[in-house]
Amino acid sequence: MALRTIREYGDDVLERKCKEVKEVTPRIRELVEDMLETMYEANGVGLAAPQVGILKRIVVIDVSAEADSPIVMINPVILETDGEQTGYEGCLSIPGKSGIVTRPNHVKAKYFDLDMNEVEIEGEELLARAICHELDHLDGHMYVEKVEGELVDNEELMSEQEEDEN
Ligand code: ZN
Repeated sequence: MALRTIREYGDDVLERKCKEVKEVTPRIRELVEDMLETMYEANGVGLAAPQVGILKRIVVIDVSAEADSPIVMINPVILETDGEQTGYEGCLSIPGKSGIVTRPNHVKAKYFDLDMNEVEIEGEELLARAICHELDHLDGHMYVEKVEGELVDNEELMSEQEEDEN
């Protein structure tokens, strides 16, 4: 396993449409392992293959508090969405920033696992947000296109939240 370099906003690779994975080769398995390691190292809850410069429809997500429940999605497709949530969202390709984005509150999606078995998943709240955010990357879209208002520095956001608590 190895850490990969996370491409940042402005890099052309983040604006391109990714290709479907036809077969899970040893190279794809290695890529997935590297993506997981890279995501955990960066304290992210999701990472899409184009964020490490690979134009393939692969996403890894882990929204668990313990960061021990990775979901690996190959060729994912959203089947249904429901409801609405509005809140701060960030992206490892735009480090240190967040912005307010409205997303569905409930998402049903299908994807293939590493054995190319089709799997369905339903997620709410953070998981629904992460699925929408990461799948957007596969079509060259980023959350800044949907952001309401300005991006804010995470440090400012944290100090605001502390003030709220006081
Ligand atoms: Zn992102």
